[in-house]
Amino acid sequence: MSTNKPMPARTDISAPFWDGLKSGRVTLPRCRSCGHWIFYPRRHCDACWSHDLEWQDVSGAGSLYTYTLTRIPTLPDFADEMPQALAVVELDQGVRINTTLVGLAEDEIRVGMRLKPVFDQVGGDGTTLLRFTGVDKTIAPPLPDAPAAEAPPPVAVTRVAVSDEAALRALVGEAFTAWSNEVVVDQALIDEFARLSGDDYWIHTDPDKARRSGPFGGTIAHGALVQVLQSRMKIPLGFEVAGFTNMVNYGSDRLRFPSPVPAGSRIHARARVKRVERQKSGTQLTLEVHTHVVGAERPSVINDLVILYM
Ligand SMILES: [Zn+2]
Repeated sequence: MSTNKPMPARTDISAPFWDGLKSGRVTLPRCRSCGHWIFYPRRHCDACWSHDLEWQDVSGAGSLYTYTLTRIPTLPDFADEMPQALAVVELDQGVRINTTLVGLAEDEIRVGMRLKPVFDQVGGDGTTLLRFTGVDKTIAPPLPDAPAAEAPPPVAVTRVAVSDEAALRALVGEAFTAWSNEVVVDQALIDEFARLSGDDYWIHTDPDKARRSGPFGGTIAHGALVQVLQSRMKIPLGFEVAGFTNMVNYGSDRLRFPSPVPAGSRIHARARVKRVERQKSGTQLTLEVHTHVVGAERPSVINDLVILYM
């Protein structure tokens, strides 16, 4: 798994908390002088100022104190988790923890609902985040980088004979198809493309530098990579041309990259038939393909793809 998401910084004071999560335990500092539970971890008791603290395991059971659903990523790297349920959970010991809810549909989330911990291993080094889900849920949290490979709903496919010029021209229109399946463009894929193409400019390959000094708050995919990923997206065109001997990709009349695809984004595509032309060499069909980051209004790639049927 590859991710550019910022990871928690384990300090001397907080180390037992993070180590506990790695082994599936929620452990909290507690004051030996007054019995007060403490979170976040710190040197002193925030009730009586004593420095006499000890770590104690707790069940992790709690209630939802408050939450918000965010549909715009706080960093580009979180684009694959939208919408995110950012929450404050009050454990039964009284401490409140900033976290995210997982495995709950939007309409299942209620302030005050009972929650249990989910130990979500996110780093190759075993780094584990504390998330929460409903007490009645048994599902594992979704892997942030798992491709959302849902097939689009089936559409009726019309067969059009390449010799039937009127039927071909009838395909031309302004309306776009429904969206294709979604594909995750993660840093690993971008790195592979950088190696393959030789374009290893830092805006694509250096997450730290891109976060610090880049214009997009993180790395972005190569426009050419997003363009070729069209092969992974099945666009529900609704027609199929038949009766030709040979079909070739004749190139593009227009290729534009109007907006970036941040690493970790999910993308999908849709298309419309822009033009049908009879040429000496055969019949040319121009398909205007738009690839977008899921939820983004502006396309990331516009490709007027010319297909030649002979
Ligand atoms: Zn105390």
